[in-house]
Amino acid sequence: EAKASSRQIRVYEAGLGHEGPRRLTLAADLRVALRERTLAVHVQPQAEPGTGAVLSAEALVRWSHPELGPVSPEEFIPIAERNGLIGELTGQVLDGALAASARWRAAGQDLGIAVNLSARSLLDDDLVDSVARALHRHGVPPARLTLEVTESSVMSDPARAVAVLHELRDLGVRLSVDDFGTGYSSLSYLKRLPVQEVKIDRSFVIGLREQGDDVGIVRAIVDLGRHLGLEVVAEGVEDGDTQTVLSGMGCDLIQGYHLGRPMPAEEFLPWLAARAAA
Ligand code: C2E
Ligand code: CA
Ligand code: CA
Ligand code: CA
Repeated sequence: EAKASSRQIRVYEAGLGHEGPRRLTLAADLRVALRERTLAVHVQPQAEPGTGAVLSAEALVRWSHPELGPVSPEEFIPIAERNGLIGELTGQVLDGALAASARWRAAGQDLGIAVNLSARSLLDDDLVDSVARALHRHGVPPARLTLEVTESSVMSDPARAVAVLHELRDLGVRLSVDDFGTGYSSLSYLKRLPVQEVKIDRSFVIGLREQGDDVGIVRAIVDLGRHLGLEVVAEGVEDGDTQTVLSGMGCDLIQGYHLGRPMPAEEFLPWLAARAAA
């Protein structure tokens, strides 16, 4: 029944011209994917740059559309937000991420897991309860969960967002500012947000190779983090030289293709074992 209705929608849209139809199709099909729980959770490792010790992973949602193939989260997250599907999507990713974290713990690996919160899900009335329930269901200690929010998601309703972040903090989860440096309010808001971590946006990290202004920007963010008592994570680390530079600057954690690409959550323990053996 679900499949028949999404096919009808597609036939209808085929007559609508371009641009809009893909979005409408994706919205309808995303609804089906959420109902059938066919979205996947991939994880990407995070490690100390100096020792290479893997301490945690970030969960990243993946959608393989039955006809279109892989669709980027950059495309379907905004669609989920506009179509009232983001609460369900966030809940499913959280569930998959915490299930993986619980399996890792059972295997003796006490690793952290980070989950992205979109702007809309940060304002969802049910968010705090659903995070609390998911932690309880999987038996994961709150301090092992990091929730990543962007500055711009906080800016859409700052008072409300700050209140929600405090409630999440009261649960004991860690909070991180994602894509740090790309917003326009970085410094003044950072002081007021109850966060424990900043993630340097990968646009600056990629620029470390070129010895230009980005070196100064990254260094300033790492120093800022240290002075504010925040952990600093660099994302988008694509080569060993960048890792070495970040280690020298005192960056706490690195994430990127050089360490490991996002992989299906089930592949993470085998990946860790292969790395330990190498
Ligand atoms: P993000 O949170 O900044 O996630 C990091 C993105 O950088 C991921 O793209 C990851 O695959 C990619 N990446 C990792 N290492 C490297 C690297 O070394 N070089 C380069 N060039 N890229 C790297 P992905 O998975 O396509 O996700 C894109 C964005 O979609 C995420 O950016 C996040 O904003 C959003 N997203 C992904 N999963 C979720 C989710 O479960 N919920 C929400 N709300 N948003 C999500
Ligand atoms: Ca993120
Ligand atoms: Ca990011
Ligand atoms: Ca991003």
